[in-house]
Amino acid sequence: MTAAGLLGAGLLNVETSLLKAGQEVPLAPPDKQPTDVKLPDLPPERKVGIAIVGLGKLAIEEVLPAFAHSKLTRVNALVSGHPDKAKRIAAAYGVETKRIYDYEHFERLADDPSVDAVYIILPNSMHAEYAIRALKAGKHVLCEKPMASNVSECEQMIGAAKEAKKKLMIAYRLRYEPFNTSAIALCRKRAFGELKKIEAANDQDVKAPNIRLSKALAGGPVGDVGIYCLNATRYLTGEEPIEVTAFAHQPKSDPRFREVPESVAFNLRFPTGVLASCSCSFGTAENRRFRVVGTSGHLTLDNAFGYRGQEMSINLGDGPKQLAITPANHFAAEMDHFAESVLQNTPVRTPGEEGLADMRVIEAIAESVRSGKTVSLKG
Ligand code: NDP
Repeated sequence: MTAAGLLGAGLLNVETSLLKAGQEVPLAPPDKQPTDVKLPDLPPERKVGIAIVGLGKLAIEEVLPAFAHSKLTRVNALVSGHPDKAKRIAAAYGVETKRIYDYEHFERLADDPSVDAVYIILPNSMHAEYAIRALKAGKHVLCEKPMASNVSECEQMIGAAKEAKKKLMIAYRLRYEPFNTSAIALCRKRAFGELKKIEAANDQDVKAPNIRLSKALAGGPVGDVGIYCLNATRYLTGEEPIEVTAFAHQPKSDPRFREVPESVAFNLRFPTGVLASCSCSFGTAENRRFRVVGTSGHLTLDNAFGYRGQEMSINLGDGPKQLAITPANHFAAEMDHFAESVLQNTPVRTPGEEGLADMRVIEAIAESVRSGKTVSLKG
């Protein structure tokens, strides 16, 4: 086809439009970029550089592998008390060895421009200290649950984030995965009528040695696993509990439970009248589930709090029905939400205030166990 023909057909680009009428179109491209190459409308997504602080079981087995599924984050640095382990992990994940830090020199992160944020995966007793140090070093903070050891530490962390004008997000991964978020949506739509009851359990068998069995490291079943039940009652109802009663069992015969209880059961009363019955244990087979019961039906989420393997069924009085929901990697979803709010400066779904709200109830649970009385959470 001639240039004139191409012109007529509207297929001529700028380069070839320089051809004169009657001249043949070259069969090979000119020694320039073709003029119809399109640049993307938006630049490729910038990724948020994360330093993982504490290379323990959760970091190694779940969080680091989740970076492969994350669209908006990159692991750029590691903080560890064990340099040999950190070097092996750095090699596996392509982290430069100069970006391995230790706890003593943690503040050096301030001079590392590849680190936008830290993900704190340390024992609970260390969360507040390292969150505050990171915020002072100018980094955003994603911090594992429970947020800290007590209410006062949570408040200090929130204050430090405000002062530093940086994000502080608590890693409540279930708020970012589709089974739990679907359960929330169904409850908000009143799919089961008026909510009346929630039953939630999160139990596992903890072998010593383990940070979870140490009082000094702020271990114990309520902050470690019971917090999932507590957080679920709050996100399913969308309410804050007003009263709590709790019992604990701490068997003298089992050396694992010298410092922390084996099992804790707690009941919560919510303002609209929902009653929640929750329990957690470090001394049983794995058992993680909740059931929400309303006036016209109920929802059960099996393995509700596990990393994967959730199964949801609802019953509206016509027999149980499994809901088909496509699972997601919890940690990648959580980190991507965090990164999005860092990049776009939008609020996080689970800020420090969310961790603080749980911690207030956790302290009330401990008080109820000590006193044997119902503790009011009003006011
Ligand atoms: P681990 O005991 O396996 O790891 C903790 C890491 O912290 C250690 O490997 C170590 O890393 C570092 N550390 C620094 N100081 C100490 C110390 N004095 N004693 C022990 N460890 C120390 O714990 P997990 O990975 O199971 O849990 C870590 C945090 O993650 C906890 O807050 C826990 O509640 C939370 N978690 C959250 C889960 C979730 O689903 N969101 C699931 C599991 C845990 P290094 O050697 O590199 O210094």
